[in-house]
Amino acid sequence: MKILVSNDDGVYADGLWALVKELQEIAAVTVVAPDRDQSGAGTSVTLRHPLRMTEIKAPLDGVAAYSVEGSPADSVILALKLVSKDGVDLVVSGINEGPNLGDDVYISGTVGAALQGFFYGIPAIALSIAAFGSLNFDIGARLAKLMAKEIVDKGLPRRMLLNVNLPNLPRGELEGIEITRLGERKYADRIEPGHDGKRQYHWIMRGKSEWQSTSGTDIWALEQNRISVTPLFGNPDGSSRELLKSLAPELFRKLLGNRD
Ligand code: MN
Repeated sequence: MKILVSNDDGVYADGLWALVKELQEIAAVTVVAPDRDQSGAGTSVTLRHPLRMTEIKAPLDGVAAYSVEGSPADSVILALKLVSKDGVDLVVSGINEGPNLGDDVYISGTVGAALQGFFYGIPAIALSIAAFGSLNFDIGARLAKLMAKEIVDKGLPRRMLLNVNLPNLPRGELEGIEITRLGERKYADRIEPGHDGKRQYHWIMRGKSEWQSTSGTDIWALEQNRISVTPLFGNPDGSSRELLKSLAPELFRKLLGNRD
């Protein structure tokens, strides 16, 4: 199995390497990711200036890793066109520090990287921990490995992008895996003015979210201490949603178990 890993927190982010460490057990892993934090870059693709890509020394043996002076989407495009020319079986993006829930998936660089995989007809998973601060990436990384096996070995539908959000909880406090749809929130962005000595500038500050917690949404699942898996795009007949629903209990059992 060949897996491409990217993210939006930057190529040196802890969440990315926690993911790679776990995925290495079942796949040849290549990393191509932005050289810096690109959170909020969404699906942005750089078309108006050239991009530099540099091979870096990976913190784990046996992984080819590259940093890209560009967006998460740029990184995946360069990876698929230049680095993994023979193709990959799966694109995994993350593990992001912070949630990517509801409407926010449309500005998420984590989802933006995965979306490029989807565009190229490759199954893709975006993973985020829905918390800030001291994060435990182990469970998310383990879940990514279990999902990779399901998707690649069992041949789940090819045109699929799964957005996964995990509560930042120890295994024993998790209540399950829920197949969800996107929730909604009221936007509360705030503009913070400042002056650099010459000109005025403006910071866009993310205001406190007012999430609408409707049953069956990703936001609701997290509130129930459940892992949320939201199928995004593709799948017009809902068949892969039903398939995922049938797989979720087994995935959760394996996630909590000691062995894979
Ligand atoms: Mn991020």
